[in-house]
Amino acid sequence: MTGDVRRVFRMDNEVLAFRFTATVSGRAGLTPGERLADPARLKMWLAATGLGVTDVSPKDLKGAVALREAIYRIGSAIAAGGQPESEDVRTLNTMAAAGHAKAALEHGHAVWRLTETTPVRDALGVLATDAVRVLGGPDRDRVKNCEGPGCAGLFLDTSRAANRRWCSMNTCGNKVKKSRISAR
Ligand SMILES: [Zn+2]
Repeated sequence: MTGDVRRVFRMDNEVLAFRFTATVSGRAGLTPGERLADPARLKMWLAATGLGVTDVSPKDLKGAVALREAIYRIGSAIAAGGQPESEDVRTLNTMAAAGHAKAALEHGHAVWRLTETTPVRDALGVLATDAVRVLGGPDRDRVKNCEGPGCAGLFLDTSRAANRRWCSMNTCGNKVKKSRISAR
């Protein structure tokens, strides 16, 4: 299961909310790739994130994509030193408020407990709340868009010198390094 998930999704972003926005690949490229192509894919991603639900409807998927794109636009606005659109902020806050997930310690690990009545809404609430935390927190000026070829994915630059340029060294950072070597 874990291997399959890694083939379909990029799971390496340290920030949960940005890992969610990475379910679109190549955002700055000619053909961005939608990896949440159907409700089953969203279910798969949620399970891999510790937010497992039994059922995802097409309407759930629509809500998830709306939240994801609001997070991406707000993050990109902040990365560019601008102000996010108020409609996006409204979407984010509504989704954050709608969730009823509870954090719990289970066998030494932090887990999320979702309600039985609105599990998907609860899961999206966790993602929205994480986005609020990072986009409005003390490190908000370290939110960046990846400079990798065609990527533009969001990441939080936690490097001491605040000079990180890629969402991940393993993917985009490596691509840039390789193209530099071949250009020489
Ligand atoms: Zn990247």
